[in-house]
Amino acid sequence: MLSVIQNPPRVALPIVGSSDLFPVRRVYCVGRNYAAHAREMGADPDREPPFFFMKPADALQIVGSEPTPHPYPSKTKSYHFEVEMVAALGGGGTDIPVADALDHVYGYAIGLDMTRRDVQDEAKKLSRPWDTAKAADGSGPIGALHPVSLIGHLARGEITLSVDGQTRQTGDLGDMIWSVAEQIAYLSGYFALQPGDLIFTGTPSGVGPVERGQRMVAAIAGLGAITLDVV
Ligand code: MN
Repeated sequence: MLSVIQNPPRVALPIVGSSDLFPVRRVYCVGRNYAAHAREMGADPDREPPFFFMKPADALQIVGSEPTPHPYPSKTKSYHFEVEMVAALGGGGTDIPVADALDHVYGYAIGLDMTRRDVQDEAKKLSRPWDTAKAADGSGPIGALHPVSLIGHLARGEITLSVDGQTRQTGDLGDMIWSVAEQIAYLSGYFALQPGDLIFTGTPSGVGPVERGQRMVAAIAGLGAITLDVV
């Protein structure tokens, strides 16, 4: 059967140590998953259950090992960085127990949940959805996938973001309020998770704006680093 328009390309991540690709289905993102970041956003990290939003898969920007131009989006004067570890699912299901959840992880990558913060602040004030704040084209830069078969699971390790050589965000993966396993278990109560799904697992404190002409370097222990030049 023919398609009446050209089939849209499927977003796929490169895999470290392989020439194969990881095709992406959905992109889930958790909010306020590090206590210090929850506090800087004016929330109480001790009382809130996790919450999630989504980015469209085609809002991802695939980033290689070289510095990569990152276009500053329209309609914002406050474009914020949020460095996050991304878990990529090779399995899935519904109502997955926490104890089994990590069996469904294929690998991990470095991601950025780039955000039109001024648009998000307005949406929060008006109790409106976050899509225009969180789903800008290119707003999900992501590096190559590191398979669990090569690196194991990442429960601890430094996660940082620098702008023009100055460290702006620092945290430890061990400081997540909801672990990767707990996020998978929780999400699988709402959605049938599938191979190809990604989860952006939250950002540590220190989020802030970036301007055209600045260089961002996002790094996670065990996953290397990705470099973006905002243009
Ligand atoms: Mn985020």
